[in-house]
Amino acid sequence: MSDINMKCVFCGESTLLKTIKFTLETLQKCLNVLEYRRSKPVVRKSRTTYDNLELSIESSLNEVYYAQCYQLFTAMKIPRDFQHLQPQ
Ligand SMILES: [Zn+2]
Repeated sequence: MSDINMKCVFCGESTLLKTIKFTLETLQKCLNVLEYRRSKPVVRKSRTTYDNLELSIESSLNEVYYAQCYQLFTAMKIPRDFQHLQPQ
């Protein structure tokens, strides 16, 4: 059992509840989504903005998130050709 106080990267909420760690795969996906979100001037009004969300391959592998927040964040269709962060 761990009592480390982790924060969900998406909503910034501190939690002792069950969180999920990033894998390279989920992180790649999130980076892609983030990139895509920022490439659009206005992405429909949503109750959560991700202006302060910082993700990087280097640092975010140690971060955690709620499954719920991840789903919310990635629940957006990304065009097939928007794949520039995918490994070649
Ligand atoms: Zn969250």
